[in-house]
Amino acid sequence: MLAGQPVLILKEGSERTTGKDALRNNITAAIAVAEAVQSTLGPRGMDKLLVDSMGDIVITNDGATILDEIDVEHPAAKMLVQVAKAQDQEVGDGTTTSVILAGELLRRAEKLIDQKIHPTLIVSGYKKATEKAIEFLKEISISVKPEDDEFLYRVARTALNSKAMGNARNHFARIAVDAVKRIFENGKADLDDISVLKMQGKSLEETDLVNGVVIDKEVLHPRMPREVKNAKIALINFPLEVKKTEFDAKIRINDPMQVSAFIEAEHDMLRDMVNKLKEAGATAVFCQKGVDDLAQHFLAIHGIMAIRRVKKSDMERLARATNARIITNWRDFNSDYLGSADVREVKIGDEKVVYVENCPNPKAVSIVIRGANKYVTEEAERAVHDALCVVRDVLEDGYAVPGGGAPEICVSRKLRKYAEEVAGREQFAIEAYAEALESIPKALAHNSGLDPIRTVADLIAAQTKNHKYTMGIEVFTGEIKDMASEGVVEPLRVKQQVFKSASETAEMILRIDDVIVAKDLEKEKKAEEGSEKTPEMPPM
Ligand code: ADP
Ligand code: MG
Repeated sequence: MLAGQPVLILKEGSERTTGKDALRNNITAAIAVAEAVQSTLGPRGMDKLLVDSMGDIVITNDGATILDEIDVEHPAAKMLVQVAKAQDQEVGDGTTTSVILAGELLRRAEKLIDQKIHPTLIVSGYKKATEKAIEFLKEISISVKPEDDEFLYRVARTALNSKAMGNARNHFARIAVDAVKRIFENGKADLDDISVLKMQGKSLEETDLVNGVVIDKEVLHPRMPREVKNAKIALINFPLEVKKTEFDAKIRINDPMQVSAFIEAEHDMLRDMVNKLKEAGATAVFCQKGVDDLAQHFLAIHGIMAIRRVKKSDMERLARATNARIITNWRDFNSDYLGSADVREVKIGDEKVVYVENCPNPKAVSIVIRGANKYVTEEAERAVHDALCVVRDVLEDGYAVPGGGAPEICVSRKLRKYAEEVAGREQFAIEAYAEALESIPKALAHNSGLDPIRTVADLIAAQTKNHKYTMGIEVFTGEIKDMASEGVVEPLRVKQQVFKSASETAEMILRIDDVIVAKDLEKEKKAEEGSEKTPEMPPM
């Protein structure tokens, strides 16, 4: 107020919440999101069925997918959704865990705020705790050699445990290990080299790893060969079609002979293009654009197999796999541009696809997912993504940690000890962090129908005795067991990233003490339009 006049700094209609109210409001929203995914954690977690505004359904157990599909409105809730996405992109797994942990860190922070501990202190305490937690994880990690396929297989199995896949889990885990090992070179595995296709029909067990590239298109003409061994491959990204003029041109023709001459000229052009391919020695043509009937006819006459409208990404993949170069101007075409591989059309269910196998570059791999229906193949695709990512993580880093709540409990115990050394109020934040970590084994136990508090107490006891940090909850039997020998193992990178992204998000939310929401002009307009109409209504 200035001499009785209020000073306005925000536009009329903006909403503003400040201080503790803003913070509490954000924390509540974030916790709500975390609670929504808690029941899906672990192999015995439940699935969710999501229906979008168009009526499409998704059945999933994948934290990132759930949060992606549900349309959250609250800004703090959105931040939590972002953690899941970031986690998924960075390391490919651990999304649910990171969201639950972020929610739990905020829940404990709220209690500390009640005890008059300033958010800034909580943030710095959480930062210290995360740093230590990442160190502790490294201390208990298991080193893995790239040749240890059996271990990699276990890592893939653990990631797939929590996916709805029935009996296909072992099969998928083998495929994931084989696929990533094929593209692993100089300590790196670029998952872009692996293409994943979904085909409906048959069952998940029929999912196939193809040593090459699979193109989701069919051979164009019935008279073209369906299989070419040791094909000479041409990749072209110009259309094999009579050119349509870019602007509307009228050609005035007086003589009927001119019509046929005109058409003849067009035909000649196509014939020249095909001849050029033929002369260079091409026996299989992949075209990014269209191939019209006449061109198909000419190609078929020469016994050349052709596939049209191939996706750009597939063209690039084919180029890498077969050593062909993509050609943009047909006049330049010569045999230098050709690649080589075996090409054949394969019928899968009702659809046909083209397999390009035995490529000169062994780093070309494709996974063809089979499944009874769209929902099954889509969930399987997410499962494959997780499995490929975890195998890559372990291959690239060479480290894994036990799962089943073992690392969370171990780090939690070590953090409690560490907190005692930290003077001042940050100590409480580090303790809160340690407590929050227990929420992961608790959720695993709860989702398996076990008593969470008792199970965690048993787990702590088991780890303390003999300092066996690999002890965790085997959720299928409900027993406390050595996770390393049970084969429940996860990439070190996933767990470290879980701690990092969960605490970063919690810290970000804790730093906010002011929320200003601009007036929604669109909504306002609609409301106004609505109210204007009312007076026009005829009186009853
Ligand atoms: P996220 O999205 O965080 O990866 P998941 O639903 O995939 O969540 O569950 C992962 C958790 O399940 C990890 O903590 C992992 O150790 C645990 N897990 C997987 N298999 C087993 C098992 N057989 N016994 C106990 N825990 C398991
Ligand atoms: Mg997982």
